[in-house]
Amino acid sequence: MYFRKTKIVCTLGPASSDKKVIKSLIESGMNVARLNFSHGDEDTFESLILTIRELSNDIAILIDLPGPKIRTGKQLQKEIVLKKNSDIILSNIKEFSDEKNIAIDYKYLTKDVERNNLIFIDDGKIKLKVLYALNQNELLCKIIKEGILKTEKGVNFPNVSLSVPSVTDNDFKALKFGAEHNADMFAVSFVRKSDDIETVKNFLEINYPSKKFFIISKIEKSEAIENIYKITEISDGIMVARGDLGVETPIETIALKQKMIISVANSLNKPVITATQMLESMVSNESPTRAEVTDITNALLDGTDAVMLSEETAVGLYSQLSAECMEKIIATTEGSSFFMNLLLSKGEVNNIISNFNVNKLENSYKKYENNEKKESDIVFNRKVRQGIDNISYAAAKMAVLSSFTLEDSFIAAITRTGYTANLISSFRPIVPIIAIVPDLSVKRRLALNFGVISLVMEKIAEKNVQIEDIVKFIKDDNSYKIKNNKKNNQFRFTSNFSEFKYAIITGGLPIGEPGSTDFVRIIDLRKN
Ligand code: PGA
Ligand code: MN
Repeated sequence: MYFRKTKIVCTLGPASSDKKVIKSLIESGMNVARLNFSHGDEDTFESLILTIRELSNDIAILIDLPGPKIRTGKQLQKEIVLKKNSDIILSNIKEFSDEKNIAIDYKYLTKDVERNNLIFIDDGKIKLKVLYALNQNELLCKIIKEGILKTEKGVNFPNVSLSVPSVTDNDFKALKFGAEHNADMFAVSFVRKSDDIETVKNFLEINYPSKKFFIISKIEKSEAIENIYKITEISDGIMVARGDLGVETPIETIALKQKMIISVANSLNKPVITATQMLESMVSNESPTRAEVTDITNALLDGTDAVMLSEETAVGLYSQLSAECMEKIIATTEGSSFFMNLLLSKGEVNNIISNFNVNKLENSYKKYENNEKKESDIVFNRKVRQGIDNISYAAAKMAVLSSFTLEDSFIAAITRTGYTANLISSFRPIVPIIAIVPDLSVKRRLALNFGVISLVMEKIAEKNVQIEDIVKFIKDDNSYKIKNNKKNNQFRFTSNFSEFKYAIITGGLPIGEPGSTDFVRIIDLRKN
């Protein structure tokens, strides 16, 4: 019996706007559809959302905000050749780039950027070094890595503290669009500190008080690495955004940063996506490289909840093949005894020496805090302790501990907001986590969580629902079995839930009463 635990995020774009292609991505395992608001217009996104919803109510829609991405300007020539060691002027007043000037849409250019700073264009394909400011609007630079400049390419200023706000007018526009088009999740680009996420959350709470959104911080700047604990604490999820992270910070540190970010997210019970270039060569090839396959397996071993496809599905020639390939690598990794043993040891480590882990975390946090006294309003230490001295946390742990003892069991979490299912997922049980949720929006909030399958049971919002009703509901569910039959895909759920021996149920009593989880009950499904 196998079901896939690691979730798949696919970026939709010109190569995948077609209904048929989106359908094929859903069949190939897409859990979350990412709309990248750095490219494309609102009309296109609107019709994309309609198409996704026409095909499925289970897929979560993630809107990726553009963030303060600085770009070079438009140019009259398609390509401008930039030669090593020649001088070039970077200007925020020129309208077009040419051989002598690079136009840039950055107001604070001469205020923020200093002599000897490095400037990376187009993901570092072109590199400049600043010589000096010619005037208030222009910097004279030397080309230290030559290349061909194309129109409106991204510019990174590694280690420069930028004056632009993290959440821009375009971001607010995208938030408004997403909120009004029933998006489930937002990813905030170029986050620097927890206040950036606070800004986004406040905006949504004030303008859309009845809705609840899932906010993901993209970790892609060195300032975000410095503030990683506070950022993770305030976010609902985290993305290891390796594309810009590999430009903003030295590329040779990227694997280590990935491991660090994933472990922080795991420790603070937040789902984490590993993103960018996972199957990059499949943009134009039918099969991946050895390194790419290894990268996906390693991300799973690092403890990621989800993996993401970007250009592979958005603009590549082989959208569906990329998603299928990713699912195959996940299935093979998860099906191995190596991975199983890792989960076993994680489960045990988590349960037995959690106090030790927390102490270690607190110490490493203190190290950050000492470096950064100005941001001392954090309640991090208290929050983690609260996690331990907390009934839901204890119940969730007990459910996971039972699953390691009972063969052929699943955990069912009755969860009105998704909180308990998220907590259980973060303990990484081997068995399926079935989240019994009141509506589709909660189901989609759990789309990124490792090992979580959600079933909607509206009745759990009522007070008189009995545990027996819930067990029957799960046993009768055929949605996953049907999915499996639709396409003879060996990597899907291959059974329905009635074939299990034990149900480990956790929730709060009375069911329907809003409040925290406080019981674990184990049911022998063969007798009930
Ligand atoms: P992007 O974010 O694709 O929006 O740039 C992901 C990354 O930087 O890795
Ligand atoms: Mn990025």
